Amino acid sequence: MAGSFIKVSCNDCAGEAIIFSRSTTVVSCGVCGATLTNSSGGKANLVGCTVLETME
Ligand SMILES: [Zn+2]
Repeated sequence: MAGSFIKVSCNDCAGEAIIFSRSTTVVSCGVCGATLTNSSGGKANLVGCTVLETME
């Protein structure tokens, strides 16, 4: 499994971002700078966003 990309919506500003499901770095919103994910056990842990769509 190589992982997949996830389209998410920022909980703070509703801006959309595309993140890698196995991202191991903190991803910040490109609009407001809120933290969208942090790393947990080798996969992205969504903390400030809602998944809109998973792209295989
Ligand atoms: Zn935002």
